[in-house]
Amino acid sequence: MRSPGDDEVLRGDLARILFDATKSGIEYRFGDSITGLVEHSDGVEVRFRNAAPRVFDLVIGADGMHSTVRRSVFGPEERFARHTGMAACVISVPNYLDLDHWELLHATPGHVVQVYSTQQSAAKAQFIFPAPEQLPDRRDIAAQQRLVAEAFADGGWEVANLLRAMPDSPDFYFDTVSQIHLERWSRGRVALVGDAAYCPSPLSGQGTSMALVGAYVLAGELRAAAGDHHVAFAAYQDRLRDYIDANLTLGWNNATQMVAGDAKALRMQTTMLKMLRYLPWKGLAMRPIIKPIEKAANAIRLRTY
Ligand SMILES: Cc1cc2nc3c(=O)[nH]c(=O)nc-3n(C[C@H](O)[C@H](O)[C@H](O)COP(=O)(O)OP(=O)(O)OC[C@H]3O[C@@H](n4cnc5c(N)ncnc54)[C@H](O)[C@@H]3O)c2cc1C
Repeated sequence: MRSPGDDEVLRGDLARILFDATKSGIEYRFGDSITGLVEHSDGVEVRFRNAAPRVFDLVIGADGMHSTVRRSVFGPEERFARHTGMAACVISVPNYLDLDHWELLHATPGHVVQVYSTQQSAAKAQFIFPAPEQLPDRRDIAAQQRLVAEAFADGGWEVANLLRAMPDSPDFYFDTVSQIHLERWSRGRVALVGDAAYCPSPLSGQGTSMALVGAYVLAGELRAAAGDHHVAFAAYQDRLRDYIDANLTLGWNNATQMVAGDAKALRMQTTMLKMLRYLPWKGLAMRPIIKPIEKAANAIRLRTY
């Protein structure tokens, strides 16, 4: 089987900018994957699917919610995942609703469909619905798409039109809405960062900030400790713990409150949303929503390393 080249992996402009800015000092290995890690007293032996094994001083697992590094070193995902009881799917759709910096939301009890513009001719549709933790195999896209289509079979509104775009969507996304909780984010010479360590769920917001703040603190502490990973990993944990816990709690509340479970809750939610734009004091009405986000987002004072 052919491995993808960097052009296929670096699909987005931002990934390309980061790659071009760092490629002279960093060895990138595309189209490969870690299959196992074995720690020795002076390094970690990393086994790859394609390349020959190599020994590294430290391994930082930044490989997302379904981290292979976490599974290899800390244990199976089920031990760390907390499921909200929902799944989410995002697809690209034509912007036939002519949305321009707008999002439309259609909700029924337990189910939400959102459509928002991304560019003039493009839009995304997100589908959220109740689902068990065990979903079809992550590589079985046809089975996942069937599940989404069945969940929204009686969707009403524009749902059938939006779902028609699903088979051709080039960036079909589907997963459970779950968090990752670990007591410690390092073991020996291996540390985790971002969603691999503390995913707040795809629906909650905050995940990007948490990943960036975590990477900044981890890199800074490694520098401050002159590479002594015992000192650095302990400081990474201590400095970040409260911030991560605050954002995981916020994330759980945001994700689980986003979907109204019954008709009464739905009526209240939609009435509030409809009224909001007409309220002269909408800034004040939004405070109870914005304040907890500000509090969690600022629950850390970043050091200059
Ligand atoms: C639909 C959706 C909407 C979101 N909306 C928001 C939002 O509005 N605001 C917000 O802050 N956050 C949002 N998030 C969350 C945010 O995207 C994540 O928290 C963030 O990307 C985490 O960064 P990360 O680098 O830790 O992990 P990721 O961005 O998941 O990156 C992990 C990388 O590791 C690679 N990888 C995984 N396994 C392997 C392997 N075995 N071998 C090689 N490479 C591997 C993956 O390809 C990926 O490139 C959203 C997430 C989703 C899914």
